[in-house]
Amino acid sequence: MGVVGRFAPSPTGAMHLGNARTALLAWLHSRSLGGRHLLRFEDLDTGRVRDWAYDTTRRDLEWLGLDWDEETRQSERLEVYWDALARLETYPCTCTRREVQAAVQASAGAPHGEESVYPGTCREHTSHPGRPAALRWRVPAITVCATDSLSGLQLCQHLPSEVGDFVLQRSDGAFAYHLAVVVDDALMGVTDVVRGADLWTATPRQIALQQSLGYLTPRSLHVPLMTDFGGARLAKRAGAPPLMTYRERGDSPGQLLSSLALSLGWDVPEEVSAADLMPHWKAMRPPLINVSSTQT
Ligand code: GLU
Ligand code: ZN
Repeated sequence: MGVVGRFAPSPTGAMHLGNARTALLAWLHSRSLGGRHLLRFEDLDTGRVRDWAYDTTRRDLEWLGLDWDEETRQSERLEVYWDALARLETYPCTCTRREVQAAVQASAGAPHGEESVYPGTCREHTSHPGRPAALRWRVPAITVCATDSLSGLQLCQHLPSEVGDFVLQRSDGAFAYHLAVVVDDALMGVTDVVRGADLWTATPRQIALQQSLGYLTPRSLHVPLMTDFGGARLAKRAGAPPLMTYRERGDSPGQLLSSLALSLGWDVPEEVSAADLMPHWKAMRPPLINVSSTQT
């Protein structure tokens, strides 16, 4: 079966260098394997979406020479998320963020990193029946392992203790990212997910959703995030310059691609095309192995 890859930006602002580098690597992966490449706007968090960001993103990708075969928007696909939601065992949760934090601290179960594991307050009874409720997935009591096809790393998480019942639909009605990404990757036939390493720890829970919904697990390749000199990841919110800044100061797309390649330690000339970088990507990733593509 042919490879299908995707780039899945959130249209919440202009792309910065880090977004562009992830977009480049996802494109290199799909195209160097002769695969299809999809552009999917992850725009379910309507409060954060900027209407102009769709066009700006498209223009930035075109400027870099990164093409795609099909474009979708999650906001136009709500029925498929409703269908998937109906097939999962969920319960309403009316806890506020602050109440979840307080319950976590009270139960002394030290959370993993910053992410707190929801202690299951509303599993049996909704705590505040009058409030708008989010829907949480009653996670199965299993350990799920993910394997990264770029680094070879494996990550196993015991769902109840390390992930907890997580939100599939927010109290404002918006579907959560984890649900939408799993449904879309499956229905769009995505075989290879190339994305930022910030999503690596979310992979086991996404595999758990795939298994519960009877979907295949795509191969995943998590690529390093670009950081500033202080080691902080570039972020729109933290003021990383938009890509168009480089265009406006007169950089050519070839120069920008060259800097992105240099930032990965690739030895390239001062100006390159996206296609010129394919051998470098091939040399960076190990031969692809098939991971846990099991249907339940
Ligand atoms: N929309 C996510 C982001 O902008 C990426 C989701 C994914 O690649 O799975 O970070
Ligand atoms: Zn709750």
